[in-house]
Amino acid sequence: MSRQRPAPRARDARDADGFRRDAKKHLGQNFLHDRGVIDRIVLAIDPRPGDRIVEIGPGQGALTLPLLDRHGALTAIEFDRDLLEPLSAAAAPRGELTLLNADVLEVDFTALAAGGQLRLAGNLPYNLSSPILFHALEHAGAIRDMHFMLQKEVVERMGAAPGSKVYGRLSVMLQAYCTVTPLFTVGPGAFRPAPKVDSAVVRLVPRAPGTVGIGDPSRFAAIVRAAFGQRRKTLRNALAAVATPALIEAAGLRPDMRAEQVPVEGFVRLANLAPPEAH
Ligand code: SAM
Repeated sequence: MSRQRPAPRARDARDADGFRRDAKKHLGQNFLHDRGVIDRIVLAIDPRPGDRIVEIGPGQGALTLPLLDRHGALTAIEFDRDLLEPLSAAAAPRGELTLLNADVLEVDFTALAAGGQLRLAGNLPYNLSSPILFHALEHAGAIRDMHFMLQKEVVERMGAAPGSKVYGRLSVMLQAYCTVTPLFTVGPGAFRPAPKVDSAVVRLVPRAPGTVGIGDPSRFAAIVRAAFGQRRKTLRNALAAVATPALIEAAGLRPDMRAEQVPVEGFVRLANLAPPEAH
């Protein structure tokens, strides 16, 4: 009886299409493979002629390739060098992919938009969700909309209303600058490897700059951070260093309220009344 030796395991095992078989956990690599979910995301984005779509973290192209089929051209920002060559090769017959090998947090979206507006999309690396969202807010004027897959719990926080347990800094900061619309949830089985958590797709549309009403964005950010830094404390105590009880009342709020009870407009009024040294 002949015995076959097992094939030696290649150190850098790749699939026929050139992608490595192993995902890099530290880069939040959970690749989408569920066709139905991919189609729903492309449908939600609904690319229109002339749109400048920028995908964050294209990975192995689960969204990139269908978006190229539909739209013909897009820019994608991928940090992992190992993915670039196979992704370019897969994209070449399908459309014009401009691939930037960069950390998305270093990308100047305003410069990339070159006077126009971008449509951002992506199944984000979950370990960087909040930094990416805050980075995008800094460039809100250059962004028409965003469609992101994120951890479901993060999407719940983003869209939460005052009084909810999960209403916090992320809710206030995002809702002050954008409309937040959770679209649908996605189970772990849609990804390889499967994450331990449920996911959700969300749409963010930055408000027109003239309608946001925030006088000084850094003062606003500082007030919101201070208020939620000690969310169990009353505003009077949490904001002791930056706002007097009289000022809190002038903003239409009560000093004995806690941050989680204050609507977004309340924070805007408070920040607009607070003295400049508040940050
Ligand atoms: N879009 C692909 C999909 O849906 O299958 C991949 C999504 S995977 C959750 C996140 C992707 O973001 C990975 O390709 C990862 O390499 C990339 N990534 C991680 N950190 C990044 C960063 N700082 N800048 C750009 N891309 C990053």
